[in-house]
Amino acid sequence: MELGFIGLGRMGARMAGRLLAAGHDLIVHDVDPAAVRNLVDLGATAAKSAQDVGDRAGLVLTSLPTPGIVTDVVLGESGLVAGERVKHLVDLSTTGAPAARLIADALAERGITAVDAPVSGGTRGAEAGTLAVMVACADQDFALVEPVVSELGRVFHVGAEPGLGQVMKLVNNYLSAVALATTSEAMVVGVKAGLDPRTMIEVLNAGSGRNSATQDKFPRAVLPGTFDFGFASGLMEKDLGLFAEEAAGLHVPLWVGSAVHQMWRQAKDQLGPASDFTSIVRLVEGWAGA
Ligand code: NAD
Repeated sequence: MELGFIGLGRMGARMAGRLLAAGHDLIVHDVDPAAVRNLVDLGATAAKSAQDVGDRAGLVLTSLPTPGIVTDVVLGESGLVAGERVKHLVDLSTTGAPAARLIADALAERGITAVDAPVSGGTRGAEAGTLAVMVACADQDFALVEPVVSELGRVFHVGAEPGLGQVMKLVNNYLSAVALATTSEAMVVGVKAGLDPRTMIEVLNAGSGRNSATQDKFPRAVLPGTFDFGFASGLMEKDLGLFAEEAAGLHVPLWVGSAVHQMWRQAKDQLGPASDFTSIVRLVEGWAGA
């Protein structure tokens, strides 16, 4: 079956590249012509719209920034849903459960199955095919999409209900955000007191304070001062907002979560939505006068 891929950004370009390398024919679309050109150079075929992708591919993957954009690309004017050939959508974006359910319901009316399959592991995981892929769909749909998404990493079938993949992904990103925010505060205290940041990270990783920020984000993007982890502050703020909505709907209070969400709102405002999410430590340094 011919595959389609819409959204060729930091994650999408790398995931589409892996599907091409695995020998799949790929019809691609992005609003950014340069992003499309890069994939065409690797062997993909360009489509002129989301609908055009749906006219030419039976299974279409999407990796787009926000729930609003995914909904528009799939259900809007010249959207994927109007395509003649598309039978399956696999959405790799982080959209939250309500958008995944809305899309699944709308597509079901047209005989198209929707699978939410958000991913974790960053641009490095997308490049290497080592992402965690969190799939929610019925068993018969899982059998169909698993061989495709297994090219992207380790696949987990987390439930049958649309949106459960999204909930799993938001839980993951909540923990990633909390770890990075609290590690930033802890590091600024230590450095201001006179400790060496590299020594601190070494000690934390040998001790009980280790977490995804001490093991990966600080050594890779904060200590070298590159702030190029590859995930935007605006997207992290979106994910924390979606997680807060999910928790509120379930009546689960988020004492820590509301503070951490507020920190990324500030990052988005002060450093810009495109700033790398690891630059949150710069905000903490600013507040500390460090
Ligand atoms: P990105 O901003 O780098 O890429 C998004 C791409 O979508 C861009 O190429 C953009 O031009 C394209 N796009 C936007 N609107 C479009 C439209 N209407 N039609 C077609 N293309 C359109 O974002 P990203 O970092 O690749 O993230 C994509 C998704 O994956 C997001 O939902 C994000 O939360 C999630 N995610 C990101 C990471 C990461 O580390 N970057 C990790 C896991 C999950």
